[in-house]
Amino acid sequence: MANLLNAKQTTLRERVVVSGVGVHSGKPVEMILHPADANTGITFLRTNREKGTELEIKGTYQSVIDTRLCTIIGHPEKGMIATIEHLMAALVGYGVDNVLVEVDADEVPVMDGSSRAYIDAIDQVGLKDLSAPRRYIRVLKPVRVQNGDSVGELLPHDGTRFDVTIDFDCETIGVQTFNEEMTPAVFKRDVSLARTFGFMSDVERLWAAGYALGSSLENSVVIGDDQKIVNPDGLRYEDEFVRHKTLDAVGDLALAGAQLLAHFRSYKGGHKLNFNMLEALFADDSNWEWVEASITKRNAARVDVSHANSSIQAAMGPETN
Ligand SMILES: [Zn+2]
Repeated sequence: MANLLNAKQTTLRERVVVSGVGVHSGKPVEMILHPADANTGITFLRTNREKGTELEIKGTYQSVIDTRLCTIIGHPEKGMIATIEHLMAALVGYGVDNVLVEVDADEVPVMDGSSRAYIDAIDQVGLKDLSAPRRYIRVLKPVRVQNGDSVGELLPHDGTRFDVTIDFDCETIGVQTFNEEMTPAVFKRDVSLARTFGFMSDVERLWAAGYALGSSLENSVVIGDDQKIVNPDGLRYEDEFVRHKTLDAVGDLALAGAQLLAHFRSYKGGHKLNFNMLEALFADDSNWEWVEASITKRNAARVDVSHANSSIQAAMGPETN
């Protein structure tokens, strides 16, 4: 996230294709990630619509139309793209600032239910620096949201920290916390492999209602009625559940439109809370400001992030990604 060593904006070196199925429709989807110009951010292009028309949708919170089962962007009549959060997490968590995401169906392909396939696709083509400096959204004062017993907070911080706690009334999950500075290396190693999860009873209910038709043990961790994990290979991380919730939060907060400089905390969060967090942040201009990265010394491991009269010094060790 706050990959402060990389002071320039990035995009992909070349286009890369990711093919899979949509988790809700169960139908095939082809997604093409294209390089994009500086300051264009993450933009989706829904192709294969009626009469060959295309629909462009910005990958920002203003485009969000539903957060109940997954994060959906677009327009109820014109067209939409669902389940964008794991891809958004991979792009922003891995330091891709600008990309055009072409999708030929109503959903991003779910792949294995984590961000791994998207990270592999990015690694396959690599990133290149653009000449424009990277821009961040710096949180200036604490912002808090609450929905029932779900609580989210954004606090000022010279970096990007994710501090996520889940609390399930289920002994297999229970209370789990993930609390780390989110760099591309941390995202790839500690978060990107965590799969979405659900309870067998809920999956059966969704199937009956015509949802989650592409959902299977190939793309979700499923907890059975006996509280045991149904997947024969078990978990990828001991606390895979909270790591997946962190992955979702990285993806949902990526809809801010730039990397955040903030400490994000959530308790019993989800897509709706994450979306409400961004609404609350941007509801008051005094909550945040744009800052631009500038390199003080070529190849130095020290980058100043400055804006107007203020500047923060963010010194971080060398990092591989
Ligand atoms: Zn998810």
